[in-house]
Amino acid sequence: MAARDRFSKKLTCPQCGNMGFAEASEDDHSSRPHPAFAVDRMPRGFFPQRASNFQETYIIRCECGRKFPFRSRSEAQN
Ligand SMILES: [Zn+2]
Repeated sequence: MAARDRFSKKLTCPQCGNMGFAEASEDDHSSRPHPAFAVDRMPRGFFPQRASNFQETYIIRCECGRKFPFRSRSEAQN
């Protein structure tokens, strides 16, 4: 069993400015081919649009309709 790394991340909608903290987890080693990323709790006003093993391709939908990845590729890791 791989250890799970749990963390929270501030999500900000680039369209309407809605903001909240998501609680997420993934397997401890981010270099794994399948980190099994999961959002454990979504902040109010945000919804999972498309689940993915990876933060960069996990798509969040804001209540305003804007969709964006959990973590952008240009964003520094933590
Ligand atoms: Zn929004």
